[in-house]
Order: sequence, then C-alpha cells, then structure tokens
Amino acid sequence: MPLTEAEHNSQQLSLWESERSEHSWSVRQSARARRLSVRVFRHGGVEIVVPPRTSPQRVSAFVSEHREWIERQRRRAAPAVHWPLPPAALDLSALGEQWQCIGSAGAGRTRVRELLNQRLHLTGRLDDFEQIRHTLIAWLAQHAHRRFDAPLRVLGAQMGVEPGRLQIRCQRTRWGSCSRRGTISLNVCLLFQTPEVLRYLMIHELAHLRHMNHSARFWSDVARHEPDWRALDRELLQGWRRVPSWMFR
Ligand SMILES: [Zn+2]
Repeated sequence: MPLTEAEHNSQQLSLWESERSEHSWSVRQSARARRLSVRVFRHGGVEIVVPPRTSPQRVSAFVSEHREWIERQRRRAAPAVHWPLPPAALDLSALGEQWQCIGSAGAGRTRVRELLNQRLHLTGRLDDFEQIRHTLIAWLAQHAHRRFDAPLRVLGAQMGVEPGRLQIRCQRTRWGSCSRRGTISLNVCLLFQTPEVLRYLMIHELAHLRHMNHSARFWSDVARHEPDWRALDRELLQGWRRVPSWMFR
C-alpha cells in the first residue's frame, strides 16, 4: 500500500541509513554546495554532498530519486567486489531454519537442490557471482512462498479476511504490499527477520484488505491482532541489517 507522506519518508530514510552502515555511504555538508549531488567512488563508496541545513527527508528523497543511477554506477565502479558466495549457511530466522550450503563445482549452469536436514547443494559453475546470487534468491523466494502461504491464510481467517494470491518479491524499497485485487506481496528478505516481525507484516498487509490506507481504523485493526505492532514496525525499519549483503549487490 502507498504509505502516507510522513511514513514514506521515515521508511526511506531508514533504508538508506542501513545501507550507509553496510556499504559505506556518507553525507557531507558543504557550505559551497548549492544543491544536492552524489559521488560514487571507485571502491563503491557513495558520498552525498548537501548544502547546509538540508533536512534528512530531503536527502532521503534525493537518494530514492537517484537510487537506480547510483546502483548502476556502483556496479560499474566496483565490479570486483565479491562477497563470499555461496555463503556457508542461510540463517532463515523467520522460520527458525538454518540451511547449510554445500557446493560442488562443475560445468554448466548453477543449480540448487535441497538435501535432507536443511542442506542446500549447489552444483555447476560456482565461480560466477551473479549466477549463484540469482540461483539462491530464486530458491529463497520459492521457499518463502512455500512457508509463508499457509500462515498468511490462517491469520487472514482469524482476521476475517481472505487474501488473494501471495507473491514473493525481492526488492529493496518495501517489505510488503497489498493490491486492490487482494494480491499480497511479501519481500523475500522477511526470511531473515524474527518470526514476530514476519507475523506483524502479514497482519499489516492483511489489514489493508479492509482499509486501503494507514488510517486510525487501519491501525486499530492491526492492534487488535498484534498489540505490540509499534515495536515490531520499528524493528522492521532496522531489518535490512539482517539481510545478507550479497542479496543486493
Ligand atoms: Zn501499509
């Protein structure tokens, strides 16, 4: 659902703050600067130069407006930055699962297969960062769909609403959404959050089936099913820190 202006800003700001901590983003105030500008360094670091007394909201809006360009520049600037992939394990806190990753390098496309006892077997080319990344994200999305669908419907029944299709998305800007047709989209990165946060987000999106806004009635509906929603909503804003950095290069 579209967020209200204030919420939108605060959420965008948090996204950006967590990115800064992870990937060396910085903001520099310059007395000479007339407008906001951005520099992408060779090592992939990003610096936003702002005139004095620029509000965080303004910086955040600027960053989201130029996000695609910045990401493109960073990919170009730092092609050699590789996170260790495949990772040793995937810690899916939301499900209480810890998947070990086992790799057997070979020829051909990277493939992933589930073995017993929460083990993932990666085969094929294991020297291609992008291939491994895509393969793992596709598996995570499929796994999230499998595991999120039933609890979403159970919660829906408790709340007296019936969600349509569940869609799992991999995006950096929002945790979930609810379309007018009742399709609920949940971010694959919710796998890395706590079970309580995942449950809260499901309740949040399900409540949108009744209220397509963030009105007081919407929040009281959410509160009926999750009295602790404020704390969980705040936790979600920090949630990007829990997501492995290779998911967003
Ligand atoms: Zn919402």
